Order: sequence, then C-alpha cells, then structure tokens
Amino acid sequence: MADDSAKKNWRPATQLVRGGTNRSNFAETNEGIFMTSGYIYETAEQAQRAFKGEEERFIYSRFSNPTVNMFQDRMKLLEGAESCWATATGMAAVFASLAATVNSGDRLVASKALFGSCDYVCRELLPTFGIETTMVEGTVLDQWRDALSQPTAAVFMETPSNPQMDVIDLPAVAELAHDAGARVVVDNVFATPILQKPLQLGADVVVYSATKHIDGQGRAMGGTILTNDVEWADGDLKQFLRHTGPSLSPFNAWVHLKGLETLHIRVRQHCKSAHEVANFMEGRKGIKRVIYPGLESHPQYELAKKQMDDSGTVVCFELEGNMANTFKFLNALEMIDISNNLGDAKSLVTHPATTTHQRLAPEARLDVGITDSLVRLSVGLEDVEDIKDDLAKALGE
Ligand SMILES: *Cc1c(COP(=O)(O)O)cnc(C)c1O
Repeated sequence: MADDSAKKNWRPATQLVRGGTNRSNFAETNEGIFMTSGYIYETAEQAQRAFKGEEERFIYSRFSNPTVNMFQDRMKLLEGAESCWATATGMAAVFASLAATVNSGDRLVASKALFGSCDYVCRELLPTFGIETTMVEGTVLDQWRDALSQPTAAVFMETPSNPQMDVIDLPAVAELAHDAGARVVVDNVFATPILQKPLQLGADVVVYSATKHIDGQGRAMGGTILTNDVEWADGDLKQFLRHTGPSLSPFNAWVHLKGLETLHIRVRQHCKSAHEVANFMEGRKGIKRVIYPGLESHPQYELAKKQMDDSGTVVCFELEGNMANTFKFLNALEMIDISNNLGDAKSLVTHPATTTHQRLAPEARLDVGITDSLVRLSVGLEDVEDIKDDLAKALGE
C-alpha cells in the first residue's frame, strides 16, 4: 500500500499525526514496527531484479525498512523537503552529510560555535582525510566573506548554536556559500523543525538529532538528513549510507514517529516555559548574564525574531563566581536533573565546559564563550513554577 499523505493538503499538525503512515494488510491503527533485517523474494529472478534496481522493494534494513520509511516520509512533510534519510544518531547525520559532500583536497568552512562532537568532526576528523577546514565566528559576516572568497565544497553551521546560542544570518551566509560553490548544511537541533525552516532560508541540507526534541522523552537515539537536492540524496549520500551502515533501528524509528505526533505541542510549551525562565533569571542575584534569543539583551535578538518562529527551548546563564560556585548551584538543584541531553520532557541542566565541550582546549572554549560558570538549561514540560522554585532555591533564595 502506498502512502498518499503527501498528496493531501493536510496542515502541519495533521501531517505530524498521520503523514507517512503506511498500513500493512493487517490494517493496524498504530504504525507497525517492522523488526526485520531482511525480506524474502518469490523467485531468484525477483531477487536479481531487486539488486539491479529494476524492481523497487525492500531488500535489507541497512538500505531501507517500512517503519524507518514512515518516519522519513513524515519528516519530509514536516520539513517541506523532497528527500529524507534517517540515521542511528544525530552525529551519524552530521558526519554522513559532510562525508558525502567533501573529497580529499576540498575546503570546508564551519562556524566555530558547535556542539563538541560536530567540532571534532570538522576541526579534527575531516582534516585527517585531506579536507581543509576553516572555522569562523559565525555571527560575523565579514569572516564568512573572507573564508568563502575561495572555492569551497561545504559550509556547516548550527543556529542557534549549542550551547552559546549564537544566531547566524542564514540567508546571508547561504548566498556567500553558494557563490563559493558550497553545499550548505545546517544543524537545526536547537531551533527544531517547528521554529525554523533552513531550506526556506537558503540551506541545502538540514540535519537533526532526533534524540532531542523529536523523541523528546529521552528514550531513543536517532538522526535525519533532509534536502531538496534529490540527485545528491539518491546518489552520493545514498551510497555512503548504504555501504557504511549508520541505519536507524525500526524500533527507534517507531519511537520517533510517536514523538512527532506531539512535537508541535511540546515545542510550543517548552518555548513558553523557557521564555518565562529566561525572564525570571535575567537580573537575578547571583546571575551574571542570561542568554536566550527571545531576550532583548541577546546580541542577535532582531535576527532571531526574523529567522525563527519562537526563541527556543534552552536557556543558558552564567553564574557569578568561580566553577566551584557553579557546581554548588548545580548540586543544589532538587528537581532539575544534571544531564547532557536536551529537548526532553524533564528539565535538564548541563555544565558544557566539563561535559559536552570538555574536549576543547581551554582557550578554544573561552573563544566560543564557554566559561566555567556557563550553565545550559533545557527547559522541560514540568509546571514552570516548579522549575522557577528549584532554580531560586539552588541560588540560595
Ligand atoms: C545532540 C546534538 C548532536 C548529536 O546528536 P546525537 O543524537 O547525540 O548523536 C548534534 N548537534 C547538536 C546541536 C546537538 O545538540
């Protein structure tokens, strides 16, 4: 049975619940979990045709799987993209999108405010394969202009970035990147597919860690690569994924399908509470600085308003005093958990300098604004008054 939800003019909330659903002959209500590695053939000739690509069908779950396909189809409808590949993790999506783009001798230009593992891939791993990487201050257009004055194969950025929430002018950078011949890959994890549509702002590829808001309940790892460049998606990217094997488990795909059903409701509530927490923390005793794109004090407040539909689910702040003081605050939280995940129903607090970004040299960390007193708070779905109470108590109020 073919899924025809793309042809229906359903609105986004409906697509999140029903898009991509492909029922089996058992007519199940809920999407089926096809826990199968392989598929059988009626005849040897059919197997031959399948491997030649003459007959489109499932061959092996490293290539494709019915549950994974439903997740990919729903993500396509959500993002407004022609192509989607799901991966086992967000990092698999980041690495595959870059590895299927750059060749030895090519240049990659990336913003330097990146998630720790993205930083590793750009700054350390790809150069070992002969890729020349240039890192720029993502919020300074002149640095992009300089770096992109030579032919470049790929541009990579996070906006807002993890954790300092720099907001990058996507259309402006995309234009410079395209003039340099680059494919623009945007890690849209912090904005979520609900708040920002990079493909509409000039990006060529959007990647997600589905582990974050798409699951949203801290259960399953996953990632996606979305693009309108079908030739690349069905060519180099498909070959890379098929033969290197970062495929998503059907079970995890099913968890993400369930996550998508409530994504817009959860993200809107996360944003509402995050905004309230940001206002609550700004100017508070013991707090040096609050970073949230929805606060007028954020350096790219106007740009964020233009580029994003709301300000995000994460609030960062710097405490007064040293690291010991910051640890004391984190340890004093009673409800909010210390963790390194984000986008979860539970409020989670992270100390990036000693966890997600501990690999960076101390100078490199300071260069991207990750001080020893910076705290990242992923605002959860608890009653916001309980979140505020916990923060105030940990501040000694
Ligand atoms: C978490 C995260 C990733 C990596 O995703 P995983 O699913 O943990 O592999 C990549 N980019 C950003 C911005 C992230 O927050």
